[in-house]
Amino acid sequence: MNFAERMKKIKPSATLAINAKALDLKARGIAVTSLAVGEPDAPTPLHICEAAKKAIDENFTKYTPVPGIMDARKAVCHYFQRQYQVTAKPENVILTTGGKQSLANTLFVLLNDGDDVLLPCPYWTSYPDLIRIAGGNPVLVKSDSSRGFRIDPSDLEKALTPRTRMMILNTPSNPTGVAYSQEEVDALVQWCFDHDIFVLADEIYDQLVYDGKPVSASHWWEKFPEKIAILNGLSKAFSMPGWRVGYTLGHEELIKQCSKLQGQMTSHMCSIAQKAAVAALDGPYDCVEEMRLSFLRRRDKAMAEISTWPGVVCRRPGGAFYLFPDVSALFTPEMPNGEAVCAHLLEKARVACVPGEAFGDPNCIRLSYAVSDDVLMDALRRIKEALYN
Ligand code: PMP
Ligand code: GLU
Repeated sequence: MNFAERMKKIKPSATLAINAKALDLKARGIAVTSLAVGEPDAPTPLHICEAAKKAIDENFTKYTPVPGIMDARKAVCHYFQRQYQVTAKPENVILTTGGKQSLANTLFVLLNDGDDVLLPCPYWTSYPDLIRIAGGNPVLVKSDSSRGFRIDPSDLEKALTPRTRMMILNTPSNPTGVAYSQEEVDALVQWCFDHDIFVLADEIYDQLVYDGKPVSASHWWEKFPEKIAILNGLSKAFSMPGWRVGYTLGHEELIKQCSKLQGQMTSHMCSIAQKAAVAALDGPYDCVEEMRLSFLRRRDKAMAEISTWPGVVCRRPGGAFYLFPDVSALFTPEMPNGEAVCAHLLEKARVACVPGEAFGDPNCIRLSYAVSDDVLMDALRRIKEALYN
């Protein structure tokens, strides 16, 4: 068969592909532990599930407005007010089928063919592909383990081109776990605004920070709504990855354009999940705090274990639920990069991890610690054995 040229611009999602491989091995009776995919282990909180059950019982199963029901758009506004004292109107919000759609919408609506997008590297695996399929060109702004995976405005300055249109700012970061301070976020956003560059802030891990308070760029949005959009969703902090709830906070005109696109592509987000989203965003947040504390505990346990691995350099992540150790000191001619290390770990330790190549850094591998303490510690011990024996 002949497929469209545009399909050559993208690869399958590496994180989802590796998870599928681990699930397949499990289904064939091979005991594999997956530290590959970024999804919380906790069940979705009961009050959220109850709201969805009620929606089904009440037959809330018809089409809704494309950007979401008014209560859901208002619930997103309540979230920004409650967490960041930022005031938004429902017209500034679109609910999407996961953060991924929120990202895709914004890229398709804003990018012209050949526009450059500044992308801090290491980056989440889906960004470059989505930028490319939207016609843009990812311009990597590189950092590495020796710099704590951070970038600052001088790095952006060096990467600037005459066609730079946008920057993606993901904090806390997948895969590095870097959580920028408010001052760091402000400096990066200010630089973008000074250079007339639109900021797409992916804050999907904003509630999962371990060494300070949540940080957001939304106060910039309040002042300059035409220069920045905020992406978030419920997959992580509310443990709802399968429900597919994402949203964008943006200028009213941007939201209208996203609705026009989404109305042709997928219509609105699932009506039942919208009711669940209202229960989550307008409900108690102690479930989020409970989960945050469990990730904090696991981060510290995992860091203590990895610090005993000779040669491996692992930065203490400030947020999200990933470790991104630099394992390059262990490379050999037979095992020359992150991909080979992951293949070795799958075969010898029966643990699935994601090669750093998927995130733009072949010296590293990514481990998710969103699994139970016992599973995590057992997997780390097996990894150590496979690496050093
Ligand atoms: N942004 C980042 C940085 C992510 O890690 C993810 C992972 N799923 C997403 C966006 C999208 O998540 P979802 O589509 O499940 O909302
Ligand atoms: N974002 C998660 C991850 O990086 C989920 C998988 C995906 O959507 O790529 O593992």
